[in-house]
Amino acid sequence: MTHSAVNGTSNSLDNEFRFSSDLSLENIRSDQHKFCEERNWLQFHPPRNVLLALVGEVGELSELFQWRGEVTRGLPEFTSQEKVRVGEELSDVLIYLVDLAEQCHIDLPAVVKDKMKKNAVKYPVHRATGRGDKNDDPSAYKQETSDIGDMQREREEGDGSE
Ligand SMILES: [Mg+2]
Repeated sequence: MTHSAVNGTSNSLDNEFRFSSDLSLENIRSDQHKFCEERNWLQFHPPRNVLLALVGEVGELSELFQWRGEVTRGLPEFTSQEKVRVGEELSDVLIYLVDLAEQCHIDLPAVVKDKMKKNAVKYPVHRATGRGDKNDDPSAYKQETSDIGDMQREREEGDGSE
């Protein structure tokens, strides 16, 4: 990881932060598969083993945040070296996550897209905005009939434009 990859946007506003766009989940899957195949390691990568490796990497990532108290977005409290390590452990987590999805024959990009659509339905903007609580009650964020009525009324009272 380059120094600029770690620190390039650390002082930017959150809305200006972007990932680079030259790597897909399929790239990661195929590169990791090749990496293991070349070393005859695929035999060690059944789903349970990969899941435990993933959990181990989450632990390594967690150690970097342990005992610090809350930290600020962009990690200004971290040294450059510490931030490099955060990037490395995040990478380990992602690589094992993608590996696990492959071992389970789960098309990760497809299910992520589906899940994000489900999340948008489960947490509609007008009912979930500003709410920090996690509520597993499926009715908690459901649109109430009166809300739908309000929305229709607002549309009818508006200028007709969408
Ligand atoms: Mg690691």
